[in-house]
Amino acid sequence: MQRGSFQWMKSLNKSIILNKIRTAGSISRAQIAKETKLTPPTVGTIVKELLEQELIKESVLGASQGGRKPKMLELNTTGFYIIGIDVGPSNIQFILSDLSGNVVDNWHKAVHEGIDERAFLSTLEQGVAQLIDQNKSLRLIGIGVAMHGVVDAALGISVFAPNLNLRNISIKEHLETTFDMDVRVENDAKALALGEAWFHDQVPQTSMIAVNVGRGIGAGLVINGKLFNGEHGIAGEIGHMTIDINGKLCSCGNVGCLQTVASGPAIAERAHELVLHGEKTVLTEWVTHEPKPITAELVHRAAETGDTLSQEILFNAGIYIGVALTNLIHVCNPCQIIVGGGVSKAGDFIISPIRQTIRERVISERAQETPVVVSKLGDYGSALGAVALILSELFEPEVK
Ligand SMILES: [Zn+2]
Repeated sequence: MQRGSFQWMKSLNKSIILNKIRTAGSISRAQIAKETKLTPPTVGTIVKELLEQELIKESVLGASQGGRKPKMLELNTTGFYIIGIDVGPSNIQFILSDLSGNVVDNWHKAVHEGIDERAFLSTLEQGVAQLIDQNKSLRLIGIGVAMHGVVDAALGISVFAPNLNLRNISIKEHLETTFDMDVRVENDAKALALGEAWFHDQVPQTSMIAVNVGRGIGAGLVINGKLFNGEHGIAGEIGHMTIDINGKLCSCGNVGCLQTVASGPAIAERAHELVLHGEKTVLTEWVTHEPKPITAELVHRAAETGDTLSQEILFNAGIYIGVALTNLIHVCNPCQIIVGGGVSKAGDFIISPIRQTIRERVISERAQETPVVVSKLGDYGSALGAVALILSELFEPEVK
């Protein structure tokens, strides 16, 4: 596998032309010149370079307008590959993706609380090395890391990963030194937001919120087409939005955070409490016959079989998320909200109460109709978001 920095590919005009080709799908040199206002000779020179670098390719499918058929240009999506890493609280997912977000290889490893910095970094190394080893013939241009918790994206440092209890880990520096490749690190929910904006709508939406509901809860805010980090990088930490001032203790030290009532573990804990309380539910039977811990996934399965209590637990979690999103709508009034992460797999059991709550609580009638949709990126959502961290820089150096 050929490695190296993608910086050599970059220049402003190159990125403008690359992005034009990417968003158009297929376009002629003349059309690029017309739409970018770059001169035809400039376009010609840069296109030649891009062809030599195998970032784009030529095809002859252009519609003839009398005379010679124009040669069309399109992205050479399999010319280069990117490694995306999603560091969740209990699992690290590694994917190898082409430039269009098509995942060609993957690897994962479980991690546990109590892991120290060295073991954590060595797990990252192991995963990257594994994918490089299995795909020696492919050209790699970078590594993106979507990390749960608080991240300093500018320095590529995991400032605090509460579920692993790790602090101040220089992920970017470590991986760049080890693999001699460009590395970008971002909070997982923010990466997911960028991934959604990148792979779903070729042109990023002006304002959008992507919420990741899994073991933790986080959100990525895309405002005016750009990821919004805030002054200290904690913009979007809605898992720690206080939702019940007299609520349960959260891992962050506060009480009543959204995470304590609507995350995967919170859903499981609520079910566990109700089972112990002797409430009527199929879960009691399931955990008695085959001793296993109640998980949010199990609650979802029970809800699907028609178990009223499980449906109620998911419904209530959805209301809490809906209240949090109502607060967010009142702050930044997005054009769309995308819900991803493990809990989003509960589909309508969780999405319906979210929509209902927003309709009941948001202040203006138009904003009450803010679309809330489930992420279509699937299990690789945050990992593809990590891939988008590299792509967004390659194609649009001015974004971020
Ligand atoms: Zn908290």
